[in-house]
Amino acid sequence: MSRETFPFEIGNFKCIAVSDGTFAYDSHSFFVNAPNERLQQVLREYSNQPGKVTTPWTCLFIDTGDHRVLVDTGGGVDSPPSVGKLLGNFHAEGIEPEDIDTVILTHGHPDHIGGNIDAEGRSVFPDARYVMWRDEWEFWTSDPDLAQLKVDEHLKQLMLMFARKNLPPIRGQLDLVDRETEIVPGVRAILVPGHTPGHVALAISSGGEQLLYISDAVLYPIHLEQPDWYPAFDLAPEQAKEAKQQLLDRIAADKALAMAFHFPFPGLGYIIREGERWQWQPIETKD
Ligand SMILES: [Zn+2]
Repeated sequence: MSRETFPFEIGNFKCIAVSDGTFAYDSHSFFVNAPNERLQQVLREYSNQPGKVTTPWTCLFIDTGDHRVLVDTGGGVDSPPSVGKLLGNFHAEGIEPEDIDTVILTHGHPDHIGGNIDAEGRSVFPDARYVMWRDEWEFWTSDPDLAQLKVDEHLKQLMLMFARKNLPPIRGQLDLVDRETEIVPGVRAILVPGHTPGHVALAISSGGEQLLYISDAVLYPIHLEQPDWYPAFDLAPEQAKEAKQQLLDRIAADKALAMAFHFPFPGLGYIIREGERWQWQPIETKD
């Protein structure tokens, strides 16, 4: 099996988890309030080097039969060399940008919108309708206030730069949603705010099967086991915690398959409730 793409089915929908690459984050940024000694111990269990969390960036392609949907565009041309590989991996699967008719942006962070434009600043998916939650679009396109964010100034500037470059060029292709509605038949937006103001998850259902695409509502499996540890990237950690709990309770109750953008590739698995914590159970993938 290629480690870059992972095809699977949800009912009649043909899906592919497509890697945009991997990125090594400073572990403190993923778990800003975690006691360091305990954190480093837990990270070793996930085979991370000391002080780092190396995570994939995994986009989702869905062919519903009527629509070809891309969820998040990865880091694109301005990202570090270890990421920005979405289009190459698409090409290897026989998918070209012109094939995509719907692009859903779960939120406005660089790793989710950076692939919107090419090196000339043009839209990469010229024929697609882009969909984003209204509050999210308005936040990132009006002078966003990142004062509360616990990341350094350099990263804040990077976030602002990516938003300035990658959002205005798609304005003419954009549909904003402000209620939990179907974006295309079988793909429904669910508001999970806190990571960012209008961060969305997606409920994807076909033929009695369901996938909950949680994007960055949970950044890493350790956040399931340690539900009080939160990332520096959460703009409103208390709100994020509450929204995450609701989403996870729903996933656990429905026994739905879940997919997360930064979980070990392909990011697919089940979430099991254990009292106040959750446990990540990745699906089996054959190498
Ligand atoms: Zn992310």
